[in-house]
Amino acid sequence: MKILILDPERKVPYRISKDTSGGYGTGNDFGDTFIPKFLKKTLRLVHDWPPLFAIYSMSVLKNYGHKVNYSKTLDNHFEEYDLYIVVSSIVCCETECENIKKLKKLNKKILVIGPFATSNPKKYIEAGGSVILGEPEFFFLKYKNLNEIEFSETVIFNHEFKLDDLPYPDWKGVIKKNKTSLLFGMEKSLPILATRGCPYSCFKYCVYPLQQGRKPRHRSARNIVDEIEYWKNKLNIRMFIFRDPVFSINKKHTIEFCNELISRKLNIRFVIETHLRILDSELIKKLKNAGLKAVKVGVESGVEEVLKSASRFTVKKDEQLSKIRELEKNNILISAMFIIGFPTDNEDSIMKTIEYAKKLNTTFSQFSVWTPYPGTPVYKEFENKITAKNFEQFDQYHLVFSHDVLSPEKIRNMLSKTYTMYYGRINWLFKFVKNSLVA
Ligand code: SF4
Repeated sequence: MKILILDPERKVPYRISKDTSGGYGTGNDFGDTFIPKFLKKTLRLVHDWPPLFAIYSMSVLKNYGHKVNYSKTLDNHFEEYDLYIVVSSIVCCETECENIKKLKKLNKKILVIGPFATSNPKKYIEAGGSVILGEPEFFFLKYKNLNEIEFSETVIFNHEFKLDDLPYPDWKGVIKKNKTSLLFGMEKSLPILATRGCPYSCFKYCVYPLQQGRKPRHRSARNIVDEIEYWKNKLNIRMFIFRDPVFSINKKHTIEFCNELISRKLNIRFVIETHLRILDSELIKKLKNAGLKAVKVGVESGVEEVLKSASRFTVKKDEQLSKIRELEKNNILISAMFIIGFPTDNEDSIMKTIEYAKKLNTTFSQFSVWTPYPGTPVYKEFENKITAKNFEQFDQYHLVFSHDVLSPEKIRNMLSKTYTMYYGRINWLFKFVKNSLVA
């Protein structure tokens, strides 16, 4: 079969990433003043990754002998293909549905994949697509002969596959050659996966467990390092960004992975996103020896009551600070992620969060806006308060519900302030230069 993986994006002057927020996607619209504008333009230039589930699907289909291409636009692709697979997201939902409607008029076969369509299939079905519910790469692994599929509204499937059963993602020809990961150095990088699933209590507002589940599943250490070695030899990639929601949930598995990497002397670097509670001194040293360059950690708020009311799985501020300093002593870069606009936030608590971010003074900080995502348990509580007119407004950088004390304008204004107050400091510049030289 001739298949097009269609990954439509709306046209905006900042980076759209469907790979983030559990596959719902975000639009990095950091704010409206000089510093956030500069940051969002820079990020747009240096990062462009399709979501892993789409690229895994592409590999599985190619391995079964299909001719598969990837495109962000339908232009010049109207007539050629037997099957169109549309990559869903909240952040480009209406644009994706427009594309589906155009294809439907031509009587094309259309499958829609991804976590957002899995949790919210209605709009895609109304537009004319058939939605695969669940992890699409496993669906394609199960159905070698796509003619067997009955194109009904939703396609539900059960599978017994493991992450190790997947082929390596088909990055060749998808990642533009000039896109690198400047934020963590000048090296070309690739996303990679070790684990899916997260068991922590913040699942009430987080979308990762919706599709990946709350029970962690991981690839074998050997399989992960085989892939790293493959990309190093094939594309000369020396930097890998792990896309696990929480890296190292299983310490034993992480130590096995590090030992495998160290024993093969591949001399590569990697970046992880994890929880500070997981990192102890033994693990930090082991990860560093294996090549850990940077860690992304969710700090969320500087106010403990705000975190508690949001059921955030967290550690006390003292412990947070000492872990961050320990990572820095080991020359590991840190990117701290904060959220403003929690339901219990107000101007004063947001200012406290900014002050706390400045105190931590990590190499990078990212601020976004609390969002009750459709499909998550918390959405039900906020359903009647939603003010967003369409799904694309759920970009994680705008207020989408009627907040008790903060207006959408105030939130945008405070978002710009977070970036300006954080990055517009000589102390940050000093830290950035110092850490970048040693990490
Ligand atoms: S730790 Fe919380 S926010 Fe992070 S992936 Fe797990 S449930 Fe989501």
